[in-house]
Amino acid sequence: MPPDSPALIDSHAHIQGAEFAADREDVLGRARAAGVAKIVVVGGAGELASNEAALALAASDDGLFATVGMHPHDAKDVSEADLDRLKQLAADPKVVAVGETGLDFYYDHSPRDLQKKIFARFIHMARETKLPLIVHDRDAHIEIAELLRTEGGGALRGVIHCFTGNYEAARTFLDLGFYISFSGILTFKNAEPLREAARRSPLDRLLVETDSPYLAPVPRRGKRNEPAFVLHVAEMLAAVRNAAVGEIADATRRNTEALFGI
Ligand SMILES: [Zn+2]
Ligand SMILES: [Zn+2]
Repeated sequence: MPPDSPALIDSHAHIQGAEFAADREDVLGRARAAGVAKIVVVGGAGELASNEAALALAASDDGLFATVGMHPHDAKDVSEADLDRLKQLAADPKVVAVGETGLDFYYDHSPRDLQKKIFARFIHMARETKLPLIVHDRDAHIEIAELLRTEGGGALRGVIHCFTGNYEAARTFLDLGFYISFSGILTFKNAEPLREAARRSPLDRLLVETDSPYLAPVPRRGKRNEPAFVLHVAEMLAAVRNAAVGEIADATRRNTEALFGI
């Protein structure tokens, strides 16, 4: 990393997948060059093996950390054996969170009642392992807040990743003690309610992420996303809050380190 550029953390990236098989070392090199000091490699997007792959990748590099979970899209396919396996993996010191998990009522790839049931199981896993929770929320703010309250036992920590709501929704999660993570969506033209949420939320609760390979920020929109592009998210967050990029980088890095203990 260049000595005078701010150190950032990409708090959510799926770089263990096939999209990066051909050039992962180059991707990691570009991230370092852009000032990305740490990357949280998130399991559970796609198949169960994405969790093992996240952990294997994290084990290979001091700046990489892993999480274990299953995406709400796949809730219908999660077995008891899968949950047992994930709990085993969660005991590895390189695993820093349970997730991603949550509810996606936009795509509805799994029935909603099953999504809720599996999300509740991951909430319990976070409580048992004392790990923070990484929550995927698409058009399900109210149901997620309710499950965090009823199943969380008051002791949950975590983040709403790739937040897409307005300030009112952010406030609900902030009041539950959660962090809010902003992705490349913050740079999209029609995201004004989201930018308002980013402007009004307290700085000590904000994270930045890429959700690579998805959701590349402007000016990379439509391309494969990669952790180096988290700088564009931090720049937009700085512009929205009328702050220096260095200040945003420092704050979001400290917040991410505090949440995940990294
Ligand atoms: Zn997600
Ligand atoms: Zn994700």
